[in-house]
Amino acid sequence: MHQMTLAEIARGLADKKFSSEELTKVLLARITQLDPQLNSFISLTEDLAIEQAKAADARRSNGESGALLGAPIAHKDLFCTQGIRTSCGSKMLDNFKAPYDATVVAKLAAAGAVTLGKTNMDEFAMGSANESSWYGAVKNPWNLEHVPGGSSGGSAAAVAARLLPAATATDTGGSIRQPAAFTNLTGLKPTYGRVSRWGMIAYASSLDQGGPLARTAEDCAILLQGMAGFDQNDSTSIDEPVPDYSASLNDSLQGLRIGVPKEYFSAGLDPRIAELIQNSIQQLQKLGAVIKEISLPNMQHAIPAYYVIAPAEASSNLSRFDGVRFGHRCENPENLIDLYKRSRGEGFGAEVQRRIMVGAYALSAGYYDAYYLKAQKIRRLVKNDFMAAFNEVDIILGPTTPNPAWKLGAKNSDPVAAYLEDVYTITANLAGLPGLSMPAGFVDGLPVGVQLLAPYFHEGRLLNVAHQYQLNTDWHTRTPTGF
Ligand code: GLN
Repeated sequence: MHQMTLAEIARGLADKKFSSEELTKVLLARITQLDPQLNSFISLTEDLAIEQAKAADARRSNGESGALLGAPIAHKDLFCTQGIRTSCGSKMLDNFKAPYDATVVAKLAAAGAVTLGKTNMDEFAMGSANESSWYGAVKNPWNLEHVPGGSSGGSAAAVAARLLPAATATDTGGSIRQPAAFTNLTGLKPTYGRVSRWGMIAYASSLDQGGPLARTAEDCAILLQGMAGFDQNDSTSIDEPVPDYSASLNDSLQGLRIGVPKEYFSAGLDPRIAELIQNSIQQLQKLGAVIKEISLPNMQHAIPAYYVIAPAEASSNLSRFDGVRFGHRCENPENLIDLYKRSRGEGFGAEVQRRIMVGAYALSAGYYDAYYLKAQKIRRLVKNDFMAAFNEVDIILGPTTPNPAWKLGAKNSDPVAAYLEDVYTITANLAGLPGLSMPAGFVDGLPVGVQLLAPYFHEGRLLNVAHQYQLNTDWHTRTPTGF
């Protein structure tokens, strides 16, 4: 039962082969049995899950249908869930029970999805390895000595290990696509503004975007359908109609123009990954796509720009966690300053503190022009590169990451080494573009992802290309041993 995709579950439920309650119980038992190896969940919501599953079964027997009605999922632990701990992977929010549901959570619940729990993540979504969580590192089911990627590492490890078919995640600089690549999943970061950020605890507000993590593009289409749409509670949500993502999955790729940036294949890319990317290009050519070399000349400036802008926004967003308005409060403060200092010092981990300091520095008088403003100018150049490229091609293809998943602890003493691994993913966030990662093969038994980028609001095109690719390849069907 646990091997089923969301699409298969929807068919099984519609055909009354099993009930949502039965499936939910099987998956909850599987999580209890296997998750101690992975640490992919921060909280399990068994009672809520059973209650939601029963309600979905009742709605089905009353004649309702829907791809998500009775589908078991989990939420990354930065989506607010009413009355349920929403920790953001931090000691700071360990005892925080959100007073309301995030829009994404509410929309999926209304569609009948069943919440099994809240997944582990890098603290405040800062990281690429899921090692900065206060609840401990998450392990990669493909090799328990390796990281699953981050920051949505819990969602990724859980779905990859077949603990559940799909989960929500968020992507500020790659946190959906990079863990998807590291664990052999399909993950989609939508266009900025496509999915509401209301109730999503903010890391860098101009970059954050929620999206689906699943095994197939078909399942990402189903989950995105339930997440996307205008929300008047989020002032950056965009009032554009949501297309039927499943309807365009089978469009022909004949004549599709794929741009491959020459800058993607420079030093730093593992040559074995480069070869797998070439294989996926050939596969798409067989399906009718036309390949064109393009250039993204400002790509080299994207990492430094991102690691100024994201910490700058984080330093502002995280100021609310002061032990008074929100978050952990220290014992016996001597005065207000002591309260702030110790509450924040105790509540935030090292990586979060590092970013708050970098961000506050970059925004301070005298440095604002030199760092923050300059980074914003680079951001515009990165966007302009994409706009020029999309005059010539329909999608852009390349690796999701320069290397496969590294060993736990391997980059802990060198944060910059970890930042450099984001080179292929962060440009889409800086430009606000949609991006998808899908399985493209293995290196040393570890999964490798290929990334597709599209113009604004062309999520349907990304899902279409990935689905056609998956109809003709079987990388995405491989299961990690032991799970
Ligand atoms: N690795 C990037 C960072 O640490 C991206 C994280 C994310 O997308 N949330 O900022």
